[in-house]
Amino acid sequence: IVRLEDVHLSFGQTEVLRGIDLTVDRGNAVSIIGPSGSGKSTILRCINALVTPQRGRITVGGTRVDQLATESERIALRKRVGIVFQQYNLFPHLTVLDNIVLAPTRILGVAQGEAEKLARELLEKVRLSEKAGAYPGQLSGGQQQRVAIARALAMRPELVLFDEVTSALDPETVGEVLAVIRDLIRDGMTSILVTHEMRFAEEISDTVVFTENGRIVAQGSPDEIFHTFDNPRIRQFVGGLS
Ligand code: ATP
Ligand code: MG
Repeated sequence: IVRLEDVHLSFGQTEVLRGIDLTVDRGNAVSIIGPSGSGKSTILRCINALVTPQRGRITVGGTRVDQLATESERIALRKRVGIVFQQYNLFPHLTVLDNIVLAPTRILGVAQGEAEKLARELLEKVRLSEKAGAYPGQLSGGQQQRVAIARALAMRPELVLFDEVTSALDPETVGEVLAVIRDLIRDGMTSILVTHEMRFAEEISDTVVFTENGRIVAQGSPDEIFHTFDNPRIRQFVGGLS
């Protein structure tokens, strides 16, 4: 469903991606790990057409993402590709339910009643049914992040990108967010996750990708990346975090 081929991207003089090749099959979960500044977030931003590479091809479900010419084409793509960030950015003046209902009704034109029904199903999925009427400020960080995940799912995306979604959370709420993502992946949601949670990546990924200096320096099964590869850089990185 997703394919990156020889993707190169620079910001000014800085070469941030130097030839990225990555394929994600439908229903699979791919984790991207690697040091800070290695280009992990930029890979996700390319897939979601938030930035455009100077060279290479990106396809998402048959669409050439690198060739989208207009903002409306980019918006159309982003309806199909959900993204969840470290900062959940919920609307503080809207209830949890209204935060989830907003995009489907406004952007997809889903009827209010239908959008609310889906929102309640999604709240059940992220284990927050009892918070439908609460405001974001009344929730913990982990609860807010689960609302943000439900909000992304409300667009019924083909693919969801997660960019370090637990990095800003209190340690005691990290687990509940990871549990929700684990459920989604088990349900078959195609997912690409940038994460520093090594044990989680090991547990849920079909493929793990290690990036460094804008390149994918290793790619393999969790077992290969975490236990087999004899690459001292990866050993040091994985060992230092897990
Ligand atoms: P982290 O683990 O810290 O989130 P990352 O692997 O996600 O790092 P990216 O955010 O993809 O790294 O950034 C890769 C490089 O690109 C960094 O050197 C960063 O400073 C640079 N960069 C990212 N976005 C921009 C931008 N909009 N303009 C200029 N440079 C940028
Ligand atoms: Mg990042």
